[in-house]
Amino acid sequence: MNGKSAKAGEPVTTRFAPSPTGPLHPGHIAAAFFARRQAGMDGRFLLRMEDIDTQRCRERFIDEALEDLEWVGLRWHGAVIRQSERMALYRTTLEALDARGLIYPCFCTRSAIARELYEAASAPHHAPDGSLIYPGTCRRLNAGTRTRRIAAGEPYALRLNVARALGEIGPASLTFRDLSRGTIVCDPLAFGDVVLARRDVPASYNLCVTYDDAAQGVTLVTRGEDLRDVTAIHRLLQELMGWPEPDYLFHPLLCDADGRRLSKRDGAFSIRAMRKAGMSAEMVRRAAGIQDDFCCTHT
Ligand code: GLU
Repeated sequence: MNGKSAKAGEPVTTRFAPSPTGPLHPGHIAAAFFARRQAGMDGRFLLRMEDIDTQRCRERFIDEALEDLEWVGLRWHGAVIRQSERMALYRTTLEALDARGLIYPCFCTRSAIARELYEAASAPHHAPDGSLIYPGTCRRLNAGTRTRRIAAGEPYALRLNVARALGEIGPASLTFRDLSRGTIVCDPLAFGDVVLARRDVPASYNLCVTYDDAAQGVTLVTRGEDLRDVTAIHRLLQELMGWPEPDYLFHPLLCDADGRRLSKRDGAFSIRAMRKAGMSAEMVRRAAGIQDDFCCTHT
């Protein structure tokens, strides 16, 4: 999987990677067409189901998403990848990072972390994505304690030791290329020691998305601008693992008339509901802000 950065002039590979935790809404259609458009006439556009969260993802949402995307006029290249079937692959990365002493087991529950932070003298710090920054409690456990607690069957997550990881990649600052804004300097420390394998799932969004973009040869990652900051973690993983550095492009998130971000919970806005109400594929595309049929005429 090792490689170099995407080269100018080479065909672009993009992807749409929804999490099937609810029905698709126009925001998804906008994101999918945005990615498709960036692949242009001779690039590749891939579809990937990010379904690692077995509690929240549903088989029927996958089937419906595929049907909705086709109905609305989108075509993709190759087979649809499902992350839930790739746990053994993600594990190889965890093993490689573990062998280098870059990850550690974390036995803290979410409420224990919140409690610890609130009890600390200083106000808790939040990561750019709004999550609480992990205070590093389990990073300080000794090897014996870790082994004993794992042997006792205590559930644990695996966290990346971000400071140590940064030390390993060297002093040059970590950056990414945002095609609309230029070179952006990353701040992975702003997220603290992120989870790479969850207590309930043996992987995490950050690990899987970075692994798969590299494995699938994605040269341009497009995603909502809410995910811009976390690119810092993805770039760190890429550097640690010697994976290629893709380019990045972020799109605004679609909002409703009141300016609220569309959510999967808004069943009324689902593509399904729009279809049922008699809207044509073209009307749905327009509702998603797509003004032309470029993507529908190019597979
Ligand atoms: N699966 C993620 C989501 O549905 C998006 C993946 C990505 O672009 O990073 O929010």
